Amino acid sequence: VFVPTEASVLHADLDSFYASVEQRDDPSLLGRPVIVGPGVVLAASYEAKACGVYSGMGANKARRLCPDAAVVPCRMEAYSEASKAVFEIFEDTAPVVEALSIDEAFLDVRGMEHFAGTPPEIAARLRRRVRAEVGLPISVGVAPTKFLAKVASAVAKPDGLLVVPPGRELEFLHPLPVERLSGVGPKTAARLHDAGLSTVRQVAELPETQLVDMLGRAVGRQLHALAHNRDPRRVQVRRRRRSIGAQHALGRRSRSPEAIDATLVALVDRVTGRLRKARRVARTVVLRLRFADFERATRSRTLGEPTDRTPTVLAAARALLDAAQPTIEERGITLIGVALSNLEDAGGRGQLVLDDRTATLDSTLDELRERFGTEAITRAVLLDRDEAPVMPRLPD
Ligand SMILES: [Mg+2]
Repeated sequence: VFVPTEASVLHADLDSFYASVEQRDDPSLLGRPVIVGPGVVLAASYEAKACGVYSGMGANKARRLCPDAAVVPCRMEAYSEASKAVFEIFEDTAPVVEALSIDEAFLDVRGMEHFAGTPPEIAARLRRRVRAEVGLPISVGVAPTKFLAKVASAVAKPDGLLVVPPGRELEFLHPLPVERLSGVGPKTAARLHDAGLSTVRQVAELPETQLVDMLGRAVGRQLHALAHNRDPRRVQVRRRRRSIGAQHALGRRSRSPEAIDATLVALVDRVTGRLRKARRVARTVVLRLRFADFERATRSRTLGEPTDRTPTVLAAARALLDAAQPTIEERGITLIGVALSNLEDAGGRGQLVLDDRTATLDSTLDELRERFGTEAITRAVLLDRDEAPVMPRLPD
């Protein structure tokens, strides 16, 4: 078992990433509340957050809370480019970089003292470089464990550095609200509050069995371990995987909208299954089409909250397909593809959903598929129809 003895894990996380890129590229937005939208709030600058705006919020509510905010469209290419530049600095800073999402990573800086300085010195230099070379604010937490480094960077925000030295972990952790524990989403937080638990210290004082009774085995055990700062995970090299996708050639024969939809359902089913297997969540749904005249089109939609849910991704994909329907009718369609991009770690948002029926259905289907093969499982949407459509066979 790995027992950390020094604070050598860095968690580096860009502040309000999309909104910061917008403020960097348009100086008239500096110091102003900025909302990246439209539709749902994809990111809010700190000035907008101060009015109570948060990502995932509906645009109307956000405008009501913050009428002075500049609402700007999402520019995914600009964010991807900035992310790439920041990850190059991460790779330059530490031999072991574990990407968590487009704007966030763990870095292990053990044993670099004699040539690169202490972990806090390395962290300070990293922040200066990201500011000077990419023009963005980034917060860094330094701690003996990954979990604590992530908590520290969140507490350090905005544009801060926070070091938790070994031996003082619980002193830092215990006064914090329970929401800081990863795995505590709104539902779990509500249950803890109902039980009179609002700080990490109060959770730490409970026996594990009591937390398991209250929250179920997985979450109960996880919270008990985290409240005592038991996190044996090492930083592991992981490159940022850019997307998970699948496509299906339809041939030149014309297809009914129902048949195209059935193909879309099967593709979404497949990519979301792979997403969950990789324990990731995605924010952007991409629809790729090839028409009978060999022209291609790519449409994408970025969601307010990252998800691994099949119905959520399907709804976005269907909206994109609907918008393309006139072109499809006019030109004919020969290939359809679905990709999920802007991926994050499923644990990264601290959302362990406890009793969500869709989540249960999705994972049950995944399990059945694992045991009996893809062909055995067909979603109800495919069976509901009069003419039983065939589950398309998709190339691996
Ligand atoms: Mg961030």
